[in-house]
Amino acid sequence: MRKAVNMATPTPITIPTEPIGSIPRPLDLIERVARGDSEDPDLAPLYEDAIRDTIERFEATGSPVVTDGEQRKYHNFATYCVHGLPNTAPDGFKIAFSDGHTRRMSRLTRGPFRYRRYADCYLDVALRYAHVPVKQAVISPSALSLMYPAERIPDYSREQFIDDLLSEHEIEIRRCLKKGAHKVQVDFTEGRLAVKIDPSGHLLNSFIDLNNLALSRFSPEERRRIGVHTCPGSDLDSTHSADVDYAELLPSLLELKAGNFYIALAGEQDRRHALTIIRKYLKPDQRVFVGVIAPIDPHIETPEEVRDRVVEASEYIPIEQLGTTDDCGFSPFSDDTSTSRDTAFAKIQARVLGTTLAGTLIGAHQ
Ligand SMILES: [Zn+2]
Repeated sequence: MRKAVNMATPTPITIPTEPIGSIPRPLDLIERVARGDSEDPDLAPLYEDAIRDTIERFEATGSPVVTDGEQRKYHNFATYCVHGLPNTAPDGFKIAFSDGHTRRMSRLTRGPFRYRRYADCYLDVALRYAHVPVKQAVISPSALSLMYPAERIPDYSREQFIDDLLSEHEIEIRRCLKKGAHKVQVDFTEGRLAVKIDPSGHLLNSFIDLNNLALSRFSPEERRRIGVHTCPGSDLDSTHSADVDYAELLPSLLELKAGNFYIALAGEQDRRHALTIIRKYLKPDQRVFVGVIAPIDPHIETPEEVRDRVVEASEYIPIEQLGTTDDCGFSPFSDDTSTSRDTAFAKIQARVLGTTLAGTLIGAHQ
């Protein structure tokens, strides 16, 4: 009896959908940056054009939430806040990708540790152009903790460094929240990488503990606007830790005191394996945005493919705790031209359309 009444009015469900962050920069900007100083004031109009065009094209996909495409992060998702600091050297932690290439972080040479810029400076510009909510990605304390050298710095202990790091990270998130970021997403790509580097799990646990020290500084209400992104890395169509079983990562990941999780899933070999783990460890106050688009796959997903991935995820995750996203940014390192802007926006449009299709389908069956 009750079921018959409910079936009389099928209502489409709105499933939240958000990007991760980066969009490939326009080729002329990449070439100009490669030729000279990225902070050359002559480049300012080119950056401004790139941001304006990115937001315009983002909004044209129908995406309810946009980013500035990280057109101006110097020069990747991880080190924008410390780029240009006088107390750093370029020979820091090395990230090895599966195709053999590496990316390198900078190394701290002396204290004290301070950010050179906070990510809300990007938000300032994006908000001038956007007509829909804008989210902002920031780098995690655990990634920046890799800047402190193993041999230690005289007169600046690791403990002092961690204190300064947590303060800077907290300031950055608070500034983004205050300026009205729809969400602040903490990029935690080194989570899965940590298991690859240290299969015992100690490194991952130390990263989780550190990031939880930061997240604990925020109220439950603030944490509803804070999320954490995990992925196996995505650069030059290659990954750094896709061979790490999600069973080694996800239970710890979901211990993080964040309200939202952006989990790469589209590119996984066995999505149901990952979804089974998420179902087991997900807490009632957490929302999971599952990746339904694989940025390193040149194939542009169809809306129907996306719809099917969302429906699959909804078999494991309560619909009120489900969202969709891309597996990663489309160019986390700013010089990556392996994906074109056209392809990135076509994939984003498929995510938006497919998520709507899924909401309609799931709504009709409830
Ligand atoms: Zn990512």
